[in-house]
Amino acid sequence: LREGKDKTIKTISSVAEMQARADRIRQSAKRIVLVPTMGFLHEGHLALIRSGRSLGDVLVVSIFVNPTQFGPGEDLEKYPRNMERDFALAAQESVDIVFSPDAGDLYGQGFETFVALQRLPMHLCGLSRPNHFRGVATVVAKLFNVVQPHVAVFGEKDFQQLQVVRRMVKDLNFSIAIIGHPTVREPDGLAMSSRNCYLSSPQRRSAVSLYLALQGAQQQVEKGIRKASELISSAEELIRSYADTDIDYVAVCDPETLEGVDTIHRPVLMALAVRVGKTRLIDNMILTPR
Ligand code: AMP
Repeated sequence: LREGKDKTIKTISSVAEMQARADRIRQSAKRIVLVPTMGFLHEGHLALIRSGRSLGDVLVVSIFVNPTQFGPGEDLEKYPRNMERDFALAAQESVDIVFSPDAGDLYGQGFETFVALQRLPMHLCGLSRPNHFRGVATVVAKLFNVVQPHVAVFGEKDFQQLQVVRRMVKDLNFSIAIIGHPTVREPDGLAMSSRNCYLSSPQRRSAVSLYLALQGAQQQVEKGIRKASELISSAEELIRSYADTDIDYVAVCDPETLEGVDTIHRPVLMALAVRVGKTRLIDNMILTPR
């Protein structure tokens, strides 16, 4: 047990212990809030945690770098980790429980059941990261069954992930409210991410191009530009003007289905993924015509 600002934080790594504790909390008619993370906490995570505080009685933050959502050649092994710091930050935010399972405990021997969506992963990041959203949906379903939250908070920074989770909750009848939290940004607009620590200083300067491209698109939409192809071309041009950037995709799509949109008559999602050096960054913004 560690002393937090105004309460004691409990750290649990055993899946069985977490599930038993969740059972007891539910029996005492308390509401459980879950904020799932992969750790290396930053202000984006902390904003989700703070908003989660008011949504229930027992606030659980999970820290788990989920192997099934990483593809071959991705950064699973070198994904940044700092458990001690994460526990300290969670304690400061008066988190009740930090749940940090081992991969071997969460995915037991002989594991073979996955949750896979049919359509949402056929867009955006799903195209360059096959099986990523199958890993995400599977681990989120598992965390839901172990932590048994009434409410779970996810960031809009990972917009496709948020929609995948919302869809899965509806399709599999999870009785859990999914709350989306707006993207938290650095002062220059770069979306906060655990992966930003990979960036060198020149790369960090190029990384702001994602946000500037989105902001530029919003301004164009406000000026009356309605063709998605035009917005995409200018966004791509802006990003390419920054050193060491390599665009994976820039897309304009329906915020619900993530299907491409050609002409903008209503709010649409602009989403993009860009490699800055070797670091793949994503960002998105809802573009709203006047
Ligand atoms: P991660 O640890 O990157 O898997 O993120 C855990 C949760 O925090 C996910 O729901 C993310 O969408 C959310 N998140 C990460 N970065 C941000 C950010 N800059 N603003 C808002 N939410 C974020």
